[in-house]
Amino acid sequence: MDGLDGNAIAGLLSDVFGAEMTTATGTCATCGAGGPLAETVVFLRAPGTVVRCRTCSGVMMVFVTVRETTCVDLRGLSNLGT
Ligand SMILES: [Zn+2]
Repeated sequence: MDGLDGNAIAGLLSDVFGAEMTTATGTCATCGAGGPLAETVVFLRAPGTVVRCRTCSGVMMVFVTVRETTCVDLRGLSNLGT
């Protein structure tokens, strides 16, 4: 798999959450691993962006932008903190 890291979506994250999020800690709902969002594995697949856990490859976040509205699915995150 050929993914980017969370820094690739720093702009998207700050648009969605209104804050600098690459240093925020996300906890994977699948395996419980936690770490900075900058260390997640990111796949940019228009129209969606998929953020996966670096430990288990579980999907942590999905962003889909349609007509300038971004829908966010955070079901793969058990915790998100700064
Ligand atoms: Zn995981």
